[in-house]
Amino acid sequence: MNQIGILGFPLGHTLSPIIHEAGFKELNLNIKFQVWEVKSQNLSEKVKSLKSPDILGFCVTLPHKYSIISLIDDLDDSAKEMNAVNWVVNSDGKLKGYNTDWIGFKDSLSYYGKEITNQECLILGAGGSAKAICMALIKENANNIYIHNRTEKNLINFINNFKHINKDIQIIDSNKLNNKDFINTLDLIINTTSVGMQGGPDPNNSPINTDNINKRALCYDLVYSPEITPFIEQAKHNNVETIGGLTMLVFQAIKGFELVTGEKAPVLKMLEAVGITKNN
Ligand code: NDP
Repeated sequence: MNQIGILGFPLGHTLSPIIHEAGFKELNLNIKFQVWEVKSQNLSEKVKSLKSPDILGFCVTLPHKYSIISLIDDLDDSAKEMNAVNWVVNSDGKLKGYNTDWIGFKDSLSYYGKEITNQECLILGAGGSAKAICMALIKENANNIYIHNRTEKNLINFINNFKHINKDIQIIDSNKLNNKDFINTLDLIINTTSVGMQGGPDPNNSPINTDNINKRALCYDLVYSPEITPFIEQAKHNNVETIGGLTMLVFQAIKGFELVTGEKAPVLKMLEAVGITKNN
């Protein structure tokens, strides 16, 4: 039987099987979804075994999104640009890496009828996921892109990733982050930090004070566990629209599903599998 899987460590709480199995069922695909919990020291051996003809491809998550690059045969442009892989397709034993995180973000906004083009955007955080968000904002022609991060050194490294791209990414310090007039100009505020994540470094706080956010703005939290983070909860309390990270998670999976199966994904079924409808 053909197989698709997820490769990462740890994977205890992964929603990937539920999302993909809903797609296989709807399209009558005889594919088994596997969970491969693999530590870094065993990654190379495991990746070799995934060249087998019954493996159509696999999703890659932490901590292997970067380290897998040297173990596969080819990269598409998005994976090259972000220097990170979250999907691998197996074609006759040749493994090609893709990055669908930025598409997941873009498509989740489209699903809710939201725009990036010409918007004033603030990214909170400068880790791995922030790269995908910044790429989506650049590709979709956001107006100004601002970024704030706790650790300045990591922020400088982050900005250097985008040096070759002709788009100014403006660093925001803590003073400006608390400046009412600046916050009021923003259309899209995206949390890419782990703040608010269950089991993370700061689960009970929001990465930003939401009191001065304009009512026409949209607050987007990449964190999906819990679904209602302190950031989402506080923004809702201030009557600001919100989107949680689960929708992005499903849309990156949908793009990966299409890459590995070659089929058009049943989008609504895959969203419904984790309880997403336009009403929530
Ligand atoms: P990284 O570890 O690469 O980056 C973490 C970021 O969070 C850094 O900017 C770090 O800042 C910041 N941070 C961590 N702790 C604190 C704190 N106490 N206060 C302020 N800033 C802090 O993680 P990822 O980018 O891979 O993931 C971040 C979150 O996004 C996770 O919750 C993850 O689950 C979620 N995610 C969701 C996806 C989706 O599809 N919805 C996809 C990918 C990720 P510093 O540089 O100062 O350390």
